[in-house]
Amino acid sequence: MMSPEDIVIYNGVEMRRDYAESLAEAQTLTHYRSGDDLRSRIRFGDETYPMVTHGSGLCPCCDAARSQLHEPLCEREQCPRCFQQVMSCDCDYLTDSACHS
Ligand SMILES: [Zn+2]
Ligand SMILES: [Zn+2]
Repeated sequence: MMSPEDIVIYNGVEMRRDYAESLAEAQTLTHYRSGDDLRSRIRFGDETYPMVTHGSGLCPCCDAARSQLHEPLCEREQCPRCFQQVMSCDCDYLTDSACHS
């Protein structure tokens, strides 16, 4: 019987199964929608200053690998609209704003 707390390997590291499934789901949420405005989300490693995360490891916040999408509103994710930190910018994206396209 699998439970959400089971430990699985994802991106080469051990994590809870529900976290891994959530991060896998996040890879399908390629855009942020705000009304009629649809923007492609910025992938981990494609951020520009001041959001750059150095090195080649996983995102220290959501365990996304380089070139993957962060968990929506990860504190290391850059907003594709105003290019500030998406979790604290004025664009008012919510996790529900992340969508398939
Ligand atoms: Zn992240
Ligand atoms: Zn923004």
